[in-house]
Amino acid sequence: MGLQIHFVFDPQGWCCMGMIIFVWLYNTLFIPQIILFPHYEEGHTSAAPILCYYLVSLFCIVSLLRASIADPGKLPERPKIPLTEQEFWELCNKCNMMRPKRSHHCSRCGHCVRRMDHHCPWINNCVGEDNHWLFLQLCFYTQLLSSYTLILDFCHYYYFLPLKKVNWDLFVFRHELALLRISTFMGIIMLGGISGLFYTQLMGIFTDMTTIEKMSNCCEEISRPRKPWQQTFSEVFGTRWKILWFIPFRQRQPLRIPYHFANHV
Ligand SMILES: [Zn+2]
Ligand SMILES: [Zn+2]
Repeated sequence: MGLQIHFVFDPQGWCCMGMIIFVWLYNTLFIPQIILFPHYEEGHTSAAPILCYYLVSLFCIVSLLRASIADPGKLPERPKIPLTEQEFWELCNKCNMMRPKRSHHCSRCGHCVRRMDHHCPWINNCVGEDNHWLFLQLCFYTQLLSSYTLILDFCHYYYFLPLKKVNWDLFVFRHELALLRISTFMGIIMLGGISGLFYTQLMGIFTDMTTIEKMSNCCEEISRPRKPWQQTFSEVFGTRWKILWFIPFRQRQPLRIPYHFANHV
């Protein structure tokens, strides 16, 4: 937690994350150069769409990097278990360490993670109690950036007036069509892939179940009091201030919930 950097040594994960960073870099570099700046210079748009594009892009990369290097909720080697909470802890049969219920052992990372949702190769990290909020922000801003890119690609051809002053010496203008086709292709893939994931993530928080719990169906036999959605989301994001749910530039503080009110599986 905090400013500590959690680094997972997994070359396969680095490749997956490298692909995501490539898509982000490609669009952040080329879309303003090909579409936004030329149309702004010719008076077809204001400066606001440029600012918005860079802002969404910044939120996207910050949530990606932070989700990737944040500690997802790794259990310490010798955790101090309060006497009143002992019944809510169990022994992991893989690493032989005590952990609170709802934790899961990640075989990729080699340790237990509190309220683990899943291991995500695209961020090369586990998604657990302490970085789930950053993962949700990443899904949200990736969808926003992909949709914005697709709208701009569409507007460039079918809505904006054609550009007059084009500097044909520049690489981007000579390969404009190919660059925009690649951007559209990547935008559709990202939007399609992330939308399904984001929907299942939101449903998981509404029902207060992690992806692992849903897949193992272990919660069906256990009757838990149904929490209101505001509470389950507040617990994930560590704040009841809804505006802060969208801000990746902050530190998450776990909400103080009495242990007997917290859900255990
Ligand atoms: Zn373990
Ligand atoms: Zn993991």
